Amino acid sequence: MSSLLIRNGVVYTADAAETVHQRGSILVVDGKIAAIGTADEVSAALDEVTRAELKTIDASSMMVLPGLINAHWHDMFAMGFPLRGALRPVSDRHDELAMFGGGGDMHKISGMFDSFDGLIEGLTPDEAYAIAEYSMWTQMRGGVTTIGDVGSLNRPTALVRAARDLGIRFVATTWAADAICAPGADKFVRTRDADGVLSQVEELLKACEQDDSGRIRCRPSIAYVTNMTDELGRGFADLVARHDVGFATHVGAVRNEPELLRKFYGATGVRRLHELGLVTDRLMAAHCAFVDDEEQELLRNAGAHISHSPGKYGPSGESTLTETGVVPRLRRAGLDVSLSTDGASLPNAGMVETMRAAWQMYNELVADHTDVLPSDALAMSTRIAARGLRWADEIGSLEVGKCADIVLVRTDDWRYLLNPRPLESLLWLGGSHDIDTVIVGGEVLLSGGETVGVDIVDVRERYLDALGSFTKRCLRVPAEVVDGVLNGALR
Ligand SMILES: [Zn+2]
Repeated sequence: MSSLLIRNGVVYTADAAETVHQRGSILVVDGKIAAIGTADEVSAALDEVTRAELKTIDASSMMVLPGLINAHWHDMFAMGFPLRGALRPVSDRHDELAMFGGGGDMHKISGMFDSFDGLIEGLTPDEAYAIAEYSMWTQMRGGVTTIGDVGSLNRPTALVRAARDLGIRFVATTWAADAICAPGADKFVRTRDADGVLSQVEELLKACEQDDSGRIRCRPSIAYVTNMTDELGRGFADLVARHDVGFATHVGAVRNEPELLRKFYGATGVRRLHELGLVTDRLMAAHCAFVDDEEQELLRNAGAHISHSPGKYGPSGESTLTETGVVPRLRRAGLDVSLSTDGASLPNAGMVETMRAAWQMYNELVADHTDVLPSDALAMSTRIAARGLRWADEIGSLEVGKCADIVLVRTDDWRYLLNPRPLESLLWLGGSHDIDTVIVGGEVLLSGGETVGVDIVDVRERYLDALGSFTKRCLRVPAEVVDGVLNGALR
């Protein structure tokens, strides 16, 4: 029996009532929350046995949050050189519109997504693991205790192993795509066998069902509605019902998507998903801004979930917030909307930065600073995100009986002076790097900003070596270019 007491912090529970304890404590026993409340209440709940075995964290200069849940993420770190990565010049003055900008270059997007399978094959198991471990560590460093993959340029087995070794929770998936929308054509072209794609994910489902850590699950996903035949979609509908799991996809992501889908598949994204039996309460739709009134109705009626990444859209040239205003409207209409980071080839906005973006941009859109309160942004990154992953029975809020996934942030510097609401100060002035302590299932993974139990210098070395060898061999970037970049990198 191991127990941990976190004492005297400002505790944001993110429970359904958004309870905050100004001087609160949490008692953790065997990885679960055994008591939570004011410091006095929790102190009174301690029995002799617990008291004797107790480790204590003094949180009197800290705020205490539930572990952050990033339910829409991709490990794209294998593309750290070519994909808006290390090969760029230092000056940004000659940047041009990239494929997600300007409403989306749909043929290019569809082609790129179709090419990932071959690149994943190219990663050796050791490279895959080294890249996965570093990429997932950057999430944990920013306070993420649960990651939901929506398709990574990496091997799912490597990601699962890395998550287990780091100690975080992970919802695994495969990279699933079986069609391409080529330029000049007007019908999709099948690029692989749907049954093969489905059997890959079924194998992963079975492997994750065998996991004994309690931290690994599986949720099938498809890369994008532009890269899915009807046959694959129907297969996924059958699979997720049979295994009773969630399902995720990108849909309604960019302005040019609906027109392309009508042309290549005869129907727009959500409508297609609905016809294939995929618009249900299992669905997590990533982005979901370019959907018409009827499609919005389908999402509402089904009780689907939207994962939105407002920290990412401006830097990638997307307009998934202000151009249609659909996602904030659906949220106000009662649909679950969670916040997530999406993925990039180098670290991009983390969950804290994403909460800030939602707090600022959703409110600006409707001239109402109460539309998304800081506590709403937190709920969208914890309790609501847990619902989207169908994991809310165990994680997403600080309540008795739930897993002790907890994040601590120091509040003793100038940014917090006189503000009785430290979460507000964090959203004004803080970021991922301010996360001080990360706890998953009662186990401390980060303390004082330092990784516990994993040698991060070694992890980073192996990541850079793996990235270098993969980039030279599979992406054909000249060795002297790669080595030049790596020799100049922080090591
Ligand atoms: Zn994504």
